[in-house]
Amino acid sequence: KIIDTKITAEVVNQFEFNGEFIHIEPLGQGHINSTYAVYFRRETVPPIRYVLQRINTSILKNPLTLMKNIEGVTNHLRKKIMEAGGNPDRETLTIVKTKDGKLFYEDGDKECWRAYLFIEDATCYQSAEKPGLFYNSAKAFGRFQKLLSDYPAETLSETIEKFHNTVNRYKNFEKAVQEDRMGRAKDVQKEIEFVKARKDDCGIVLDLIEKKEIPLRVTHNDTKLNNIMMDNETNEGICVIDLDTVMPGSVFYDFGDSIRFGASSAAEDETDLSKVYMDINLFKEYVEGFLSEAGETLTKKEYELLAFSAKLLTLECGIRFLTDYLEGDTYFKIHREHHNLDRARTQFKLVANMEEKMEMMNEIVMSHCKN
Ligand code: ADP
Ligand code: MG
Ligand code: MG
Repeated sequence: KIIDTKITAEVVNQFEFNGEFIHIEPLGQGHINSTYAVYFRRETVPPIRYVLQRINTSILKNPLTLMKNIEGVTNHLRKKIMEAGGNPDRETLTIVKTKDGKLFYEDGDKECWRAYLFIEDATCYQSAEKPGLFYNSAKAFGRFQKLLSDYPAETLSETIEKFHNTVNRYKNFEKAVQEDRMGRAKDVQKEIEFVKARKDDCGIVLDLIEKKEIPLRVTHNDTKLNNIMMDNETNEGICVIDLDTVMPGSVFYDFGDSIRFGASSAAEDETDLSKVYMDINLFKEYVEGFLSEAGETLTKKEYELLAFSAKLLTLECGIRFLTDYLEGDTYFKIHREHHNLDRARTQFKLVANMEEKMEMMNEIVMSHCKN
């Protein structure tokens, strides 16, 4: 892959990188931003590399508010990690500013660039290919939650508006059913009824936030395994990366979404629904990892609804897939006919399965509750 000469000549030169530029190469398998490793030679020490990213501004529309969110959160993490005697250069992302002190650089084509320290001696896994990785990811996201539990979440900007507003998601669904732009509603009555029967679930978390019965927290909103760097020696999740969707929210958003895709027995678009269920062992593994770190910071109310949140976030996701199907597949990329419907069906199958297992799920969570 040939890298635009503009990146080297113009962009690399803008940042506070240390040393003499050697070369640049693509990095990782991210789907949102374009990510590069940039190598520098220094006099006495081995070469050093940095991460350079072109921010995908068609999705992340306001790079300044986004970078301010990241700056606030990473500064806080840095302080906490130092207090705990850790290494902040490795255990949190560290922004490398531009030479004129800015959080990102906007080039002549209005492309926005940012840079981070490189997390060395660590691997970014695409799937839980080794035993323990899922547990370790849960631990890392739990630690992220714990270290940010005293951060003033209300000062963060909502980079993507109403992202986990399930009530709003439900409204959009109702509108899509009513308009029925593609004439598809008649063929998915069963799915539509499934959602309508669960309308009351949609408001539960928002209601509690509004009434201040659960705290507003910093949420990551993209808690996938491939957004954690795992230490090459220990496989511990040392650093949570990809902070673009950090926003104010509830602990349920990250936990619930992690269970939705991480504890499922099958792919999100599996068409053989008999293969789709929530794996209770994976659920237990995630709960144990997550609570081993975040446990002490959660309130009683949060414990009580943690298992429910797995169902809620799965329902929300299914609603989004079904809505997009009804609207003619305008949001999620599809690779085959009815792809979004297939995706909605796996989510609803998971929801139904979680409803059957809810008592067991709650027991697992509550066995860790000391509050
Ligand atoms: P996207 O939003 O496109 O997923 P990410 O911020 O997750 O972008 O970065 C893409 C990939 O680049 C990551 O999955 C990881 O492999 C690598 N990466 C990102 N930041 C760092 C870092 N600070 N150190 C080492 N690798 C990184
Ligand atoms: Mg990523
Ligand atoms: Mg991302």
